[in-house]
Amino acid sequence: MDLDSIRQQFPALQQQVNDHPLIYLDNAATSQKPEVVINAVERFYRYQNANVHRGAHQLSEQATSAFEAARTTVQQFINAASEQEIIWTRGTTEGINLIAQSYARPQLKPGDEILLTELEHHANIVPWQIVAEQTGALIRVVPINDNGDLNLQRFSALLNDKTRIVSLTHISNALGTINPVAGLVRQAKAFGAIVIIDGAQAAPHLEIDVQRLGCDFYLFSGHKLFAPTGIGVLFGRKTLLETMPPWQAGGEMIKRVSFSGTTYNDLPFKFEAGTPNISGALGLAEAIRFLTALDRKALAHHERALMNRAVELCSAIPGFSRIGNPTACASILSFQLSSHHQQDIGLMLDQQGIALRTGHHCAMPLMERLGLPGTVRASFCFYNTMEEVERFARVLEQISLGRSFAVAETVSEQSIFDDSPFGREIRNSDIISQLTPLKSWNDRYREIMQLGKQLPAFTSTMKREQDRINGCESDAWLRVSRDDKGALWFAADSDARIIRGLIALVLAALNGRQPDEILAFDIEDYFSQLNLTRHLSPSRGNGLKAIIEAVRESARQASA
Ligand SMILES: *Cc1c(COP(=O)(O)O)cnc(C)c1O
Repeated sequence: MDLDSIRQQFPALQQQVNDHPLIYLDNAATSQKPEVVINAVERFYRYQNANVHRGAHQLSEQATSAFEAARTTVQQFINAASEQEIIWTRGTTEGINLIAQSYARPQLKPGDEILLTELEHHANIVPWQIVAEQTGALIRVVPINDNGDLNLQRFSALLNDKTRIVSLTHISNALGTINPVAGLVRQAKAFGAIVIIDGAQAAPHLEIDVQRLGCDFYLFSGHKLFAPTGIGVLFGRKTLLETMPPWQAGGEMIKRVSFSGTTYNDLPFKFEAGTPNISGALGLAEAIRFLTALDRKALAHHERALMNRAVELCSAIPGFSRIGNPTACASILSFQLSSHHQQDIGLMLDQQGIALRTGHHCAMPLMERLGLPGTVRASFCFYNTMEEVERFARVLEQISLGRSFAVAETVSEQSIFDDSPFGREIRNSDIISQLTPLKSWNDRYREIMQLGKQLPAFTSTMKREQDRINGCESDAWLRVSRDDKGALWFAADSDARIIRGLIALVLAALNGRQPDEILAFDIEDYFSQLNLTRHLSPSRGNGLKAIIEAVRESARQASA
């Protein structure tokens, strides 16, 4: 396998991020795209753009043929029996919602059971909760063992005559567990249940044969399979799809509309209302051609080698603990460092050009089962190199060896207010003059961490539930007091160091001010002067925005 030439075909892998060559280890969130896929999408818009299935002209006919040929490519890729079994969707999430509403909702009766597992992504939980609410069906959950394997005894024991639906992931996006789906499908079918497999993580890494698996539905997303976002696939057995009512209504899904009644189109069009994502489908077909032209056994072998090397190197790092250790595991490594909050690790790796994911990975019930707020997740793809894995492990080791984080000893409830320099000796103007001359993000980051250290820490008893502010990735606590001049003083803490630093910046600006001053303060402008607006971006999902909102809410209440 010529790794260099494969890597060359991915333009995004050629860049520098934060002055380092990008090491992209967030493949379980989305994969990078090869040149051929990018070109296919561009070619469509440059030369072939037309709507499908309706135009009376050449471009439309060509677009239609290409679009339907893409469907055939997908059908062959997963060995479905017919193109009619391939429905285009926006992605895995939409596919599961379609099945829940169009298949399950009309079928389920009160007391019927839907069997899920503790490993599921929210996309394979919430649509079932909604349909359970609508029908009176019950959700049963197969537990995992401590190593992250599905508990197969419990799976068998939970199956019964009331089990109408079994919906489970092929590969866990959070722990990498590869479920033995073929055997599980057989067991579930013996009870007459319908089996749905969430293949979002599996399609890029395993060879899928839906007929051999024997499942009723199989779902995946293009964007994790080197294709564009906004395109995905729902495979469904034809006999089932035929009995299902349409899900969304509009153009394409009808044969004939009149006000006395409408006849629906044949499969697969019955489920494809409206103009589809044509360029996405062409891109996905191109991605499949790209992938299947490679030696997939060799790719899988390389991914396994990357994973094994990462586990070997990281296990030697002080304070490293792997989360889960499944018997059959994809190239997904979930872990924590005892010395650092996961969000800090993500940020420090990002400073070194290493991209990965931290947090709950859209699997909050799984995190709850593990008793963790989240993990750091490195997910490897065949285009990653052994050198990248080694550099990742080296940087992680440096992080773990970094100075431990001493914070000011907190003596009393009042000292979290009184001992804080923010809003007193350190105001926002001081912060601006201190941070703006620093050009590099690394230097600014170091200063922010230093400021965070001056924020008095809450003791664990001070971290009261009613003061908790839920961010997506890290928790924070906020307390408010008002002095006799009516000014508001805030004390706050977070389990992530970067958030402590950012809180310090916020408190420097807002502490000790009157409520109307707080409400008038332009925090966006302040952060943009500090060149830190990305920390206010909703995508970071951290507690900072929630803190700012809570501070403003206190000011609103105080001024009311
Ligand atoms: C990513 C993912 C999903 C959701 O896929 P979308 O592309 O966001 O619709 C569902 N399940 C698993 C296991 C995933 O990894």
